[in-house]
Amino acid sequence: MMNQSHPSGWASLNAMLERNAMQHGASPALCSGVDNLLTHGQLLDHVAETVSALNHLGVGRNDRVAIVLPQGPELAMAFLAVASGACAAPLNPAYLESEFRFYLEDLQARALLLPQGGDSPARAAAAALGVPVIEVIAEEGGAGRFRLSGTPGAPESSGGFAEVGDVALVLHTSGTTSRPKMVPLTQANLMASARNIGATLQLTPADRCLNVMPLFHIHGLLAGLLAPLGAGGSSVCTASFSPEKFQGWLDQWKPSWFSAVPTMHQSILAQGRERSPHSLRLIRSSSAALPPAVMAGLEAAFGVPVIESYGMTEAAHQMASNPLPPRTRKPGSVGPAAGPEVTILDKDGRPLASGETGEIAIRGANVCGGYLNNPEANATAFSGGWFRTGDQGYLDGEGYLFITGRLKEIINRGGEKIAPREIDEALLAFPGVGQAVAFAVPHPTLGEDIAAAVVLNDGIVTGEAELRDFAFDRLPAFKVPSRIVFVSDIPKGPTGKLQRIGLADRLAAALAVEYEPPASETEQLVATTMSEILGCGPVGRNDNFFYLGGDSLRATQVLTRIGQSLGFQIPMPTIFRCPSPSQLAGKIELMQQPDIDLLAAELEKLTPEERARLLDDFHTPHPT
Ligand code: AMP
Repeated sequence: MMNQSHPSGWASLNAMLERNAMQHGASPALCSGVDNLLTHGQLLDHVAETVSALNHLGVGRNDRVAIVLPQGPELAMAFLAVASGACAAPLNPAYLESEFRFYLEDLQARALLLPQGGDSPARAAAAALGVPVIEVIAEEGGAGRFRLSGTPGAPESSGGFAEVGDVALVLHTSGTTSRPKMVPLTQANLMASARNIGATLQLTPADRCLNVMPLFHIHGLLAGLLAPLGAGGSSVCTASFSPEKFQGWLDQWKPSWFSAVPTMHQSILAQGRERSPHSLRLIRSSSAALPPAVMAGLEAAFGVPVIESYGMTEAAHQMASNPLPPRTRKPGSVGPAAGPEVTILDKDGRPLASGETGEIAIRGANVCGGYLNNPEANATAFSGGWFRTGDQGYLDGEGYLFITGRLKEIINRGGEKIAPREIDEALLAFPGVGQAVAFAVPHPTLGEDIAAAVVLNDGIVTGEAELRDFAFDRLPAFKVPSRIVFVSDIPKGPTGKLQRIGLADRLAAALAVEYEPPASETEQLVATTMSEILGCGPVGRNDNFFYLGGDSLRATQVLTRIGQSLGFQIPMPTIFRCPSPSQLAGKIELMQQPDIDLLAAELEKLTPEERARLLDDFHTPHPT
């Protein structure tokens, strides 16, 4: 199926960990917490112990094991161990139970790894499907160490370490249809990609990566973990990304590089930076287009080169990358091919000359051989030895790739890929919705945000807030459209076919909100705070914070500031559900009212005498 050559002597994860233990056994491999380290020697030992434990629990080579763990060192270790002896399928812990059910079933998961006692909805999904749960119990003695607890059983497949052609990792990518596609990546694919990233960034055993990317996404797994380990270096396993903690991580761990999506880079820049000393020698960006101004801002703030790369799950991440100096970095370009071959094809699959725009296609040792159980997608995407990425672009005369658009309909919300059909289906489940079409709208920090156009059946009356509320119960928060507009007809493209791409322009008038001044003191407070945080003009009572350019980082800032002036904490999900000043103010006013049920329950706890005294006190006039 693929090129299994391994010039540097390691073509499987286990071979790579063994090489590291032999050559750099006493140097750190994983770092976490305050000063929790695990050496390459300890890492190999712990992976070997975990593979035996998995075999004892009935899990063997090529068995797919879903992993739902919070971001951190145990997740890194779980991935490394499961991928060394079975097949890892890390899933986003933010999924709803229905989504976990889909993924566990689609994967035909042999087991599910969960934190001990954790209340993830994945547990109920696994119980419903009869998927055994293996609990991960964190242990002292080095970053990522844990033991496993589950019901023993004999593996149906063979035990021991995986071999080069075995599938090490399965990830789902959002398809254009509602059904996500399963991408199987072999040991050889992962190792080729780790080597490609290492070669591009000239990584050595002295390099330490600060991993801020989620480890259920290919970017975090490859750039954040396998590439630094492949170079014999180390990876700092952070908990979820937090721009406020970023400087502390730099000071504490002295990383030489980190890789992130553009929204994270923007939020790091937004923290403001004195030119204090740091240990970085480069900053990498991938998974969404890096605005040239952000690249320039980062280079000015940190004084190191910013390397933009082009990655994709099907390529085990890296396909093209700008090089390190003294070679040229071109802002706005994702650089020349960096591992696989990159070409531009016309719609009939013929290669195009430099300067001509077409579909970007790749082939090489890091590229997946085909989706699982999906012959139609394979027939379209894999042809003539090339994998067609669905992205559009051109190569300039020097072989630098420029991405100009997308043929696939995926929405890229700050690097998070979302299948629009999934959103359509959630909205169509609302009684009285006749048509629903989700589409991308430009967003200043996320690159793209989600909007949807809805046609209601005759006689049906409902509002944007009701429909968004309904969607929140069916989709994880990051997939709920920031804006829903009601139209009598969904505009079609020139051929009469529905085209999501370009809908934002065609529906610009419907998406615009007419300014209405805030109508109460709380609305005024919310509107002013939003406008200050966004650095924009006056915000009207019906304006949508996210549509105006807000993102989750700025949402936290808005809530913190309002909470400080009102003297109570407003929970974060409130602003996602209530993104306009009128909605948010309404919710805040409700929260400020005393909780009658709570008061009644407190009264119940009093003795009859205490209650009588309280009533007396209540009726006695107090001097003012
Ligand atoms: P994923 O499979 O989540 O890694 O997403 C892959 C997709 O992200 C690619 O097909 C592109 O559409 C997009 N992408 C990745 N890197 C970049 C980049 N540097 N600039 C623009 N789009 C990118």
